[in-house]
Amino acid sequence: MANSNESLLAGAKVLPFILGGKSTFTLRSVKTGTRYTYRVSAAKEKPGLFFAKVLAGTDSYVYIGVISKGVFRLTAASKMAEAAVPVVAFKWMLERVTAGAPTPNMEFWHAGKCGRCGRKLTVPESIACGLGPECAGKVASCSFAAIRRITSIKSRNELLK
Ligand SMILES: [Zn+2]
Repeated sequence: MANSNESLLAGAKVLPFILGGKSTFTLRSVKTGTRYTYRVSAAKEKPGLFFAKVLAGTDSYVYIGVISKGVFRLTAASKMAEAAVPVVAFKWMLERVTAGAPTPNMEFWHAGKCGRCGRKLTVPESIACGLGPECAGKVASCSFAAIRRITSIKSRNELLK
């Protein structure tokens, strides 16, 4: 990966990052080394709705579905089938993370950019969390309480309180 500030995220740090509003991250299978890079962006007009895409080629992202109230699902516009490996991996990861469960044999790497605004992360604390100093205060903090709140989320505004 090109960005040297990418970092491994785990546990309670993952979900606030994914739902930050503008996140880019890679899921990597520890066993096989297979990796997929995703982009999750918040819908501007619909709080609590996020669009998920997967990198399919050089800087070309393909739409795979939405995250609504913390749950991923395909839509009519999805460019991949439910059984496609990048879709299966994404769905499994999100289900585990929203349940506060670990993701055995799967690594979660952020791309060195803030999960909320997409700017490059430079401060070590920010790289460790995946959120810039200003954005970290606006996104639910890296705690288990935050995850529980997100699993019952009604709107993105709740997440950002
Ligand atoms: Zn930011």
